[in-house]
Amino acid sequence: MQDNHKITKKYMSRSVIFRLLVLYSLVLLISFSAIFILFFFHTKRMLYRNAAKELKEDTYEFVDVFNVEGFEHLKLHLISEGRARSTDDVCYTIMEPNGNIIITTDTSQWGGLAEHSDLLSQASDKDPIVIATLRIPQISTDVMVSYIRFAPEKILRMAKALRNTQASLDSYLNVLIVTVILILTVGGIVCWIILHHVIGRVKNVTGTALSISTISLHKRVPLSGFDDEIDDLVRAFNGMLDRIELLVTGLGEVTDNVAHDLKSPVTRIRVVAESLLTTDDANAGVKKIAERIVEESDGPLEMINTTLEIKAIDTGVSPLNFTKCDVAEIVRQAFDLFEIVAEEKGITLQMDKSGPAVINGDLHRLQRVFANLIDNALKYTKTGGKVSVHIQSEQDAVRVKIADTGVGIAPEALGRVFERFYRADQSRNIPGLGLGLSLAETIVKSHGGSITVESSVGAGSTFIVVLPRNG
Ligand code: ADP
Repeated sequence: MQDNHKITKKYMSRSVIFRLLVLYSLVLLISFSAIFILFFFHTKRMLYRNAAKELKEDTYEFVDVFNVEGFEHLKLHLISEGRARSTDDVCYTIMEPNGNIIITTDTSQWGGLAEHSDLLSQASDKDPIVIATLRIPQISTDVMVSYIRFAPEKILRMAKALRNTQASLDSYLNVLIVTVILILTVGGIVCWIILHHVIGRVKNVTGTALSISTISLHKRVPLSGFDDEIDDLVRAFNGMLDRIELLVTGLGEVTDNVAHDLKSPVTRIRVVAESLLTTDDANAGVKKIAERIVEESDGPLEMINTTLEIKAIDTGVSPLNFTKCDVAEIVRQAFDLFEIVAEEKGITLQMDKSGPAVINGDLHRLQRVFANLIDNALKYTKTGGKVSVHIQSEQDAVRVKIADTGVGIAPEALGRVFERFYRADQSRNIPGLGLGLSLAETIVKSHGGSITVESSVGAGSTFIVVLPRNG
């Protein structure tokens, strides 16, 4: 559970989805921007080429008027054409090679053109017209200008603001920007959905791995049916779990068999030692040794019996004996039993008042559960500490909380305390077998209930048992 929590809280920037999404968006952004920039400049070149062609045609139309109808007609044509267009858009001028203006449609904005009159010198005999694109102050767009020497001492200069071309380019640019944003957004969402799906399946494997380490070895990750690389991973992972489960079950069976095989000899040793204690033939020294043997054999015998009992309940060899029993009464009896121990240890043992909490359960086995939990709470709490018991009757279940202010359990040990023979580091110096919680869990689970623990080192632990009313 804790690890799951850690995974969901993992920094966004470290998640595979986030990194792939950023990478994908960057690739999309760079490639589409490159394509669109190329398109943009290509379109701009085409539009400018067309504008130059038009200007060239207009210029030669003016030169034709001069050639056919003479200079005076050209001047009239220039004035009337100039008037027909806005002075912001065009400027027609006839000038002398030294820059003196003979006639112009310019009213004020086109003064900047004078700085570029050197362009005229570029005109050759082969191509007497010079066309250039310029930027001049006062005109907000690019300007295309043509110079042509149409008579020995006369130059026609035609300048045109590329407003339509600029407007076309601006709207083209807007379309490109909107398209890039759309592609990025739609592409990002589609990529996120795909990644989420794929990573979700990988997370499934991780979630199962984590729950297996803490809950049970029987779980398997379901196959998606896509038969892809992730299904291969799931198959490999499930196969590994099969082998681990086989090993663990094998180990458990070995332990059960050893316990089973040891029970008779250890019991016989104890019986022999007990008989020595009662016989008159043995001297005091021998009786003392016999007494030690009886004492020392209690530990192994308890271990053997508890191991065998866990197995018997687990496998159903020793089924539960269900009767109507009052959990509040069972807990109170266990509480009374340990009151003296608590007093001797200087621990406050407190139980909240509660009414009857009747369930369908095995009285004797439930007695062992709560005796074990209260015993542990007192065992792992130092003098001056407190152990409190609280019973809560719910509609379908009874919840018992046993909280202590003891040594606590480290986070890495929390998921393991219910394992057989597991003892946490904090409690190694306190006698115990590491079987009490395992037995408690087996009994509670066989009632259809659950047992959980919350703890922090140095602050104490709380064991919570939930038993359904109709287990
Ligand atoms: P043990 O005989 O060692 O008490 P249990 O199965 O009852 O065996 O408990 C397993 C381990 O869980 C203990 O060794 C101890 O490390 C830890 N534990 C159980 N109850 C508590 C508790 N109330 N406070 C701190 N640690 C506990």
